[in-house]
Amino acid sequence: MIKKLIPLFALTFFISCSTTKKTIDYDRIEAKYVNQINTENLKKHLTIIASDEMEGRNTGSEGQKKAGRYMIDEYKKMNVSFPKGAKDYYQAVPASFLNAKRNLNLPDSENIWVFIEGSDKKDEIVVVSAHYDHVGMKNGEIYNGADDDGSGTVALMEIARIFQKAKEDGNGPRRSILILHVTAEEVGLHGSRYYSENPLFPLANTVADVNIDMIGRRDELHKDSNNYVYVIGSDYLSTDLYNICENANTKHGLLTLDYKYNDKNDKNRFYYRSDHYNFAKNGIPSVFLFSGVHEDYHQPTDDVDKIEFDAVTTRTKYAFAIAWEIANRENRLIVDKKDAQ
Ligand SMILES: [Zn+2]
Repeated sequence: MIKKLIPLFALTFFISCSTTKKTIDYDRIEAKYVNQINTENLKKHLTIIASDEMEGRNTGSEGQKKAGRYMIDEYKKMNVSFPKGAKDYYQAVPASFLNAKRNLNLPDSENIWVFIEGSDKKDEIVVVSAHYDHVGMKNGEIYNGADDDGSGTVALMEIARIFQKAKEDGNGPRRSILILHVTAEEVGLHGSRYYSENPLFPLANTVADVNIDMIGRRDELHKDSNNYVYVIGSDYLSTDLYNICENANTKHGLLTLDYKYNDKNDKNRFYYRSDHYNFAKNGIPSVFLFSGVHEDYHQPTDDVDKIEFDAVTTRTKYAFAIAWEIANRENRLIVDKKDAQ
């Protein structure tokens, strides 16, 4: 049999098509972006967000709003915008919602959101979340919440910056990234619940939530090394998500992954205690990254000078690498398990 000849005009057509469609090798460039997560930026932001000026960022307080304004100003400097379809960086969370289950006389508050629009799969949304409220002031003492959850807050700011940078380099994510700074976590996960009940993008198109809550310290069980993170919930709904969380770590040689609190029978029940739960309960594959509790947890001594920024950096790189893979892989995560409980 002779080789089939391709007519010249067809060949020209083929060549011109293949050269106009740029294909990005996301695997190859991933490390370049992971390694741009910057310790000095994390430190600069957290020093401000966990300062006394923010008065412990109680839900709806002026201190929390001030922290929010700082974050938004920084996003503007980074050229990171609010989501398409929103009128600004805020999702208003009304007092009536915050006080409906238990009346704590909370004032109106806000979730803060930013968005890096995807390319060919832009209607699919990857959420990266962390709460920016804390517990405020008691008896004249300020609870700065540097670890809880100032650490997750600044991690999100760096993750947004790098996705935006990638986009400006022409390497933007295929799926859209919604960075969600939720309010009112400490008083009952209300900000994330409000988003899940009033989503800007359909939950059916929301492919995953990567939630970060307290990644700045080490706990009693890891006295000798801060090079670890607890991974919680990754395998509850999606084998794909579990594999991604494993591979993202191995690929970049980052951390020891600790699954201690992934045990559904663990008495701490951490899985139910942060914002990813409001996504997971809606069937959205979710992973919670956490470095454990310590003596300053919910104390006025949860201060920035106790934060281990080398660990925050590595854990932020890890969260970024997970989000990068979810956003850029060919196939959407498959939900192959039912049990978010
Ligand atoms: Zn927290």
